[in-house]
Amino acid sequence: MKNHTIHEFQELMVTLYGDRDRIRGIEKSFLWLQTENGELLEAYLKDDQGAMEEEVADVFAWLCSVCNLLNIDLESAAWKKYQSRCPKCEASPCECQPL
Ligand SMILES: [Zn+2]
Repeated sequence: MKNHTIHEFQELMVTLYGDRDRIRGIEKSFLWLQTENGELLEAYLKDDQGAMEEEVADVFAWLCSVCNLLNIDLESAAWKKYQSRCPKCEASPCECQPL
């Protein structure tokens, strides 16, 4: 299967789920995104590689749906903020104090 851009994936989410996303609304979509984050953590804690791959796909799909509802182009927003350096210290690699 050919890989496409993040923008194309976000457009696919509009095609597949745009109507349903608008009906559900932004607040419930945020809740689903958080639920999928929790499922990803669960898969990690079980050390289940197959489940982790499925859950990162779900997290990403829900993030795209949230971005669609907020009229944000995820690919552009991510590149705009991160470009080729850390947005805080502006170094590459980052030189900030570890969290
Ligand atoms: Zn930094």
